[in-house]
Amino acid sequence: MGVAVLLVVLGAIAAALGHQLPESSPSPASSSSSSTAASPIDIRRSEHRDARRGHRGALGEADGAVPDGTTVFDDEVPGIAKLDSALLGALRQSATNAADDGVKFVVDSGWRSPAYQEQLLNEAVQKYGSEAEAARWVATPNTSAHVSGDAVDIGPSAAAAWLSEHGAAYGLCQVYGNEPWHYELRPDAIDHGCPAVYADPTHDPRMQQ
Ligand SMILES: [Zn+2]
Repeated sequence: MGVAVLLVVLGAIAAALGHQLPESSPSPASSSSSSTAASPIDIRRSEHRDARRGHRGALGEADGAVPDGTTVFDDEVPGIAKLDSALLGALRQSATNAADDGVKFVVDSGWRSPAYQEQLLNEAVQKYGSEAEAARWVATPNTSAHVSGDAVDIGPSAAAAWLSEHGAAYGLCQVYGNEPWHYELRPDAIDHGCPAVYADPTHDPRMQQ
């Protein structure tokens, strides 16, 4: 009897410890099946981090994965070096001026190889359960502006906020309402401001190919 009680107690302790593992979500709501339990932004961010760390072990820096803390000045990182030169120039100019405001830009993702984009898409399909839902977050290798070197994901949120306020002056515009970190070059924005954002990539005509 004493042994049985001890086992129950040990089991309870193990369960409690299991709930305290860093991998588990701090929010009880995220264990709910509701689609609103975790914000899509949080999910997307963790997806970026997983990909950056080579979570699935497949692809590395040569395919566009960027080390933590990569900046727009890191020429030796292919994910930066293979960006469109005009986009990179605008990013460096804005990052320099943002630094004067005490804001540092970090690149969470820049150029990506088609294989890397394919991996992200496959992971998104697994995560979201369908290709249709995944398409709201991750483009195909044929349509992604990251693969063509025309898009960057900028962090942290203070940097994205700085760009939201000042980016148009450099031709840097947010493109999708659901991706406040994703920026592309829109040279006309310097004179006319950024165009209206698409709610998500499925509304972007470029994604209809
Ligand atoms: Zn992006």
